[in-house]
Amino acid sequence: MRIARFTNLLLVGGLVLVAGGCASRDGGFDRSQAASENANAAGNSKKLAKCPVMENEPIDTKVYIKTDDGRVYFCCKDCIAKYKANPAKYAENVAAQRRVLADRN
Ligand SMILES: [Zn+2]
Repeated sequence: MRIARFTNLLLVGGLVLVAGGCASRDGGFDRSQAASENANAAGNSKKLAKCPVMENEPIDTKVYIKTDDGRVYFCCKDCIAKYKANPAKYAENVAAQRRVLADRN
């Protein structure tokens, strides 16, 4: 149980690190390095959920919308606008995000 909790902290820490990722792309390499360190620390195959619009960006758990099927998370608010403009375009990515989130527990 201790280990699970530690893992959660690492995941949350990673999300905090990448918050606002869309706005400043300069830190790109730092972010991906942090993400992979988190993945390693988590031990095995836990994947970070990705923004359906910017597929390489991890989600910010504070940035989401509610749909008929549940929440959809994004990396930043700009992506919400893009998603709403054409939800069908991102449907597959949303499904992928849900799979990752469902696996995470
Ligand atoms: Zn974004």
